[in-house]
Amino acid sequence: IIVATDVHKWYDSFHVLQGVNLTVERQEVVVLMGPSGSGKSTFIRTLNALEDYQQGQIVIDGMALSQDLGNIESIRREVGMVFQQFNLFPHLTVLQNITLAPIWVRRWPRAKAEEVAMQLLEQVDILEQAQKYPGQLSGGQQQRVAIARALAMQPKIMLFDEPTSALDPEMVKEVLVVMRSLAKSGMTMVVVTHEVGFAREVANRILLMDQGTVVEEAAPEQFFQNPQEERTKLFLSQIL
Ligand code: ATP
Ligand code: MG
Repeated sequence: IIVATDVHKWYDSFHVLQGVNLTVERQEVVVLMGPSGSGKSTFIRTLNALEDYQQGQIVIDGMALSQDLGNIESIRREVGMVFQQFNLFPHLTVLQNITLAPIWVRRWPRAKAEEVAMQLLEQVDILEQAQKYPGQLSGGQQQRVAIARALAMQPKIMLFDEPTSALDPEMVKEVLVVMRSLAKSGMTMVVVTHEVGFAREVANRILLMDQGTVVEEAAPEQFFQNPQEERTKLFLSQIL
């Protein structure tokens, strides 16, 4: 459902993505790890047309994502994204945050959008917060709203960029629980995270990025127990 081939990107003269390859099948969960500055966020953002790229090819569910982001709208409908900083609209209630895009982009009637939103809030276990504003919620609750908001567009793929790294430790779990059940439900997911427990349990494959390329790609057991590359061993020695 995702085929990225030899993707290159430059920020001016800085070659941030140096030929990244990634194939993701339907219902697969792929975890992306790697040191700070290795290009994880930049790469995942190209998959959602949040960043352009200069060379290579990205195909999402059969649609070529043009380098100049010409077909941004159709891609964004298919691919939901959750960020480290939840990026909720502070002046809208939880319910309004979730129904905004379905009403304005999908053109759903408000009643239908609200019905779907309430189901999603139940799914992420915060139904009782629907009328609150983001500022009135804990970080973990806000992140679960952000997940519900992305799901409201009924995406085929969900991207997560370090969704738990801005959270206090006691709230990490509640977000991972939601992500785990989403994976179980068959959602195709690409997740940048250093949560080793989640990666071990949920990922089908783990990729290590370094300096703008994928250095190693393996099933979790192999990745953690028997990494092949020195770069991976070094990285794991720093996080385990
Ligand atoms: P982290 O683990 O810290 O989130 P990352 O792997 O997500 O790191 P990126 O955010 O993709 O790394 O950044 C990769 C490199 O590109 C870094 O060296 C960063 O400084 C640089 N970079 C990111 N965004 C820009 C930008 N808008 N303009 C110029 N350089 C940028
Ligand atoms: Mg990042």
